[in-house]
Amino acid sequence: MAALIGIEEARRIVLAAARPLGAEEVALEQALGRVLAEDLESGLDVPPFRSSAMDGYAVVAGPGGELRVIGESRAGRPAERRVERGTAVRISTGALVPEGADAVVPIERVEAARSEAVSVPAVQPGANVREAGEDVRAGQVVLRRGAALGPAELGVAASVGRPSLRCARRPRVVVLVTGDELAEPGEPLAPGAIYSSNGFALTGQVARAGASLLRRANVRDAAEATHEALAVALEDADVVIVSGGVSVGPHDHVKPALRELGVEERFWGVALKPGKPTWFGARGARLVFGLPGNPVSAMVTFQLFARPALAALQGADPGATRAEAVLDRAVPRSPGREQAVRCRLTARADGWHAEPTGPQGSHVLTSMLGAAALALVPAGDGELAAGERVAIEMLT
Ligand code: AMP
Ligand code: MG
Repeated sequence: MAALIGIEEARRIVLAAARPLGAEEVALEQALGRVLAEDLESGLDVPPFRSSAMDGYAVVAGPGGELRVIGESRAGRPAERRVERGTAVRISTGALVPEGADAVVPIERVEAARSEAVSVPAVQPGANVREAGEDVRAGQVVLRRGAALGPAELGVAASVGRPSLRCARRPRVVVLVTGDELAEPGEPLAPGAIYSSNGFALTGQVARAGASLLRRANVRDAAEATHEALAVALEDADVVIVSGGVSVGPHDHVKPALRELGVEERFWGVALKPGKPTWFGARGARLVFGLPGNPVSAMVTFQLFARPALAALQGADPGATRAEAVLDRAVPRSPGREQAVRCRLTARADGWHAEPTGPQGSHVLTSMLGAAALALVPAGDGELAAGERVAIEMLT
């Protein structure tokens, strides 16, 4: 490990290597969590016609009085007749306001409603009428390229009549977890073995980043097995995530295997705690992250480096998870390394407040429970005092 680089420098290197993948047409039903790869322009006004905001009577605005009821306009079934002064049409919420009418009197405000006549109070032009295009105008761009598609975005796309959207292809990810000590949950635990948590935590993070998991596999600490697993992963993955085995011990085979496979090292080692032994490289457009084995380090480095790459590959903003918070408790600084401190967040009048979840060892995975953000505490001496503002990385 030569001189360590900082978090921002490491992110810059990762993002420089992450070129957006192609796009594909995706049915709205499948598009939740995807990233939009087009500017979505509406071809129509929404609402498409002048409609009623209330159940009541469509009338010509004026002083009020007794009106003859000449028909009905229901949602989806417009009235056939024109409304003249002295007449009214019964109308439902969302129904087309008939020709001639320019106001709606709510049902609660009419008197002696009989089927053929109704008595209405004075009403202003435009009352309880929704004009065409009040929500969206024809020609308006309602969603921009790079937008994350959530429930509201899907609803708006449907409201302008789009059955499908052009979306960024999901990055295909293989997660490889290395270590002879690792057992799968459900298996018996041999002496010296531990249950593997990284495979599950990392595949969860992959899913949350909107990527598509091709495989999760456990790999023995052997040169050949490591080489083989990486070779197969590099055939079909856009991004390979390896945990553990990346250091320089006699049983760490990941870096030599990647070198043999032609994956070019872009950085090795970050001035970050936890997460110093982090490796990143590329072969063509394929990206490889060698993350530390310690469970917290693996999750932290995924969040700080792999997640922005997965966003950039989809054309989304890799910085969308950054914010700022006030530190509620003093945190000892680390002399040479920036720290990612797992924090609970509370919203107060002056913004987010962050409080460490508890002991912060890189093996204390329970420190991630309840953590809504990583507080990025700059390197230095002494402590960062309570009340100081820090950059935070939101966990999702
Ligand atoms: P390594 O990076 O392979 O040297 O591993 C560093 C530490 O992380 C060791 O204590 C490993 O036992 C532990 N570790 C590695 N992989 C996992 C895993 N999948 N789940 C839990 N702990 C792990
Ligand atoms: Mg290991």
